[in-house]
Amino acid sequence: MSRTVDVRNVVIIGSGPAGYTAALYAARANLRPLVLKGIDAGGQLMLTTDVENYPGFPEGILGPELMELMEKQAARFDAELLHQAATRVDLSASPFGIWSGDEEFRARSVIVATGAKAKMLGVPGEKQLLGRGVSTCATCDGFFFRGQDLVVVGGGDSAMEEALFLTRFATKVAVVHRRDELRASKIMQQRAFENDKISFVWDSVVDEVLGDGQVSGVRLRNVKTDERSELAAGGLFVAIGHVPNTQIFEGQLEMTEGYIVVGEPTTATSVEGVFAAGDVVDFTYRQAITAAGMGCKAAMDAERYLETLGH
Ligand code: NAP
Repeated sequence: MSRTVDVRNVVIIGSGPAGYTAALYAARANLRPLVLKGIDAGGQLMLTTDVENYPGFPEGILGPELMELMEKQAARFDAELLHQAATRVDLSASPFGIWSGDEEFRARSVIVATGAKAKMLGVPGEKQLLGRGVSTCATCDGFFFRGQDLVVVGGGDSAMEEALFLTRFATKVAVVHRRDELRASKIMQQRAFENDKISFVWDSVVDEVLGDGQVSGVRLRNVKTDERSELAAGGLFVAIGHVPNTQIFEGQLEMTEGYIVVGEPTTATSVEGVFAAGDVVDFTYRQAITAAGMGCKAAMDAERYLETLGH
């Protein structure tokens, strides 16, 4: 015998700034949203320390604290928050199906806010020193590295952008790249080559991040000669790409390079009634404030959509 499952107005998948903001707006619109926060709830800000560029906090705030406040604010307005992950979805017909293991949820509209993960090097020291000199976002953390020597890993546009941005604060920026040729666009390469503060360490990888409580340098290995060396640095910026968390939506939502495509300026995906917000969509800005802004838009889009259904 099949079990009847309540059909909810909105299920929000994900709990970074986009998910919590969508929850806040949807809850204040009386939609009683359900948020599947995921197992690693809170998104990428849980991996940062000080956040000084989120408006409203003149003294700055810790990333995890900011996420806790966002969660509390959504909960205050009757969003239901579950500390579990969506493991499967069926978006082929409405009401849409969302599963967390064996538990089934049904919803007239879905907001996908599952974010993206920065790729990490996976070398000793990196995890321990994340937020203590290891960063994946120059825009967020560059300011903390005034007057220091820094290392950026990667050879793509992100690495060049990070390196160029960091020259505003750093004394020197060494870009460590595993090949002798960059993947970045010619214009970004040119800008980086022309910047006196930027140098390149070719054919090399970071084998270990050094430091006791705070980054003090990196251990390098030349992949052609196997020569080992150490480079002193106050910070390491890992810029080797991101992976959007979209595996469970594959084949169901239109995507480009793994990111969900939305009909900008709205947050509508290729499936009517399904909306997406934050880093799962946005590979350009990737900021907490831009994700939160999109979360707001997604809730308003869902609200309007539900109105057309008479809910
Ligand atoms: P990307 O283009 O995929 O580049 C990643 C870089 O990291 C590559 O140089 C790669 O080396 C290196 N890498 C990957 N895994 C590594 C590992 N385990 N160890 C060491 N190095 C590793 O990623 P992205 O730079 O983040 O850019 C993503 C997309 O966004 C691109 O389409 C890019 O054009 C775009 N974007 C554009 C701008 C802009 O126009 N201003 C800014 C940022 C990003 P290999 O080259 O050897 O593979």
